[in-house]
Amino acid sequence: MYGTGLLKGMGVTLKHFVESYVEDIRWIGKGGRYYNDDAMRVRQSLKGTGMVTVNYPEEKLPVPERFRFIPFLVTEEPAPGQTYGKDFCTSCGICAKVCPPQCIWIKRGKLPNGRPNPEPEEFYIDIDVCMNCGYCSEFCPFDAIKMDHDYELASFDRTTAHIHDKARLSKPLSYWRSIAPTRAEEERLLREAAANKKAAKKGGGAKPAAVANAAANQAAKADAPVAGASGAPPPPEMIEITDDMPPDEIRKARIANSKAKSAYKKQLKAMGIDPKSVKI
Ligand code: SF4
Ligand code: SF4
Repeated sequence: MYGTGLLKGMGVTLKHFVESYVEDIRWIGKGGRYYNDDAMRVRQSLKGTGMVTVNYPEEKLPVPERFRFIPFLVTEEPAPGQTYGKDFCTSCGICAKVCPPQCIWIKRGKLPNGRPNPEPEEFYIDIDVCMNCGYCSEFCPFDAIKMDHDYELASFDRTTAHIHDKARLSKPLSYWRSIAPTRAEEERLLREAAANKKAAKKGGGAKPAAVANAAANQAAKADAPVAGASGAPPPPEMIEITDDMPPDEIRKARIANSKAKSAYKKQLKAMGIDPKSVKI
C-alpha cells in the first residue's frame, strides 16, 4: 500500500527512541549509560539497542591499531633535557618522493667535513595537504615514519599550526609501541629475522627456531614418498596459526610457513611440475 514504507521507517525510529529510555533505566545503578566505558562497549556492540551514537567529544571511540592520520617521526627515547631523541630517519628523501600530494619537505644536514649528514636538519609536513594515505610510512626503509592516531588537530591558525616541524613530528619508539603494539612487534621480529639471516649468511648466526623447524619439515618432505596421480610429493605441513597465539609466535609461524611453501614450490619446479597445478 502507498505509504507503508514510510510508516515502517517511522516505526524503526520510534522503536529506537523507546528502547533508548528502556536502556537508560536498565543502566541505572551500573554507572549510567553515558560516559561509562562498559556501557559504551555494549552500546557499540551488536547487542546495543536504543541510541547507539557517541557523545563526542566527551565520549570517544577507541581507534583500531591500523588507523592512520598524520605521520610522525620515530626517534629513540630522548635523553633528560632533550625535546626529542635521535632520529631513525636518515633523510634519504624516499617518503618525500612517494608522497602523492608532495606535502613533505626535508632539509638534510651536512657534517663538518662537508659530507651529507644522514639525519634531517629540518622536516616538515603540511597536515592540511596530507591525505593520510600512509605511503610515506609504507615506503620508508628504516621504519622511521609512522601514521599517528591523534586526529584532534583542528586549530584556528592554519598558517603555522598546520605545518608540523621536526619537534612536533618527533615521537619516541615507545609511543609507536603503545599505539600499535602488534605492528611494532611484527617489525621488531622482521628486523630480527633479517639480522639473523645476514648473520647466518656470514656463518656466524643462529637460525631462528621457526626457520629451523620449517627447514626440518622441508627435509622430511623431501624424503617422503612421491604421492598422487600427478607425481607431486605431499605438500608441507603448515604450522597452525590460532587467535590465542602471542604475536611473536604468529610472526615466526608465518615466516616458517612461507619458507616451507616456497621450498615446496621449488621442489615441484625441479620435478617439472607446475606449482600452480598443486594445491598447497
Ligand atoms: S623515507 Fe624514512 S628515512 Fe627516508 S627521509 Fe623519509 S622518514 Fe626519513
Ligand atoms: S600520509 Fe600520504 S599524503 Fe600524508 S605525508 Fe604521507 S605520503 Fe604524504
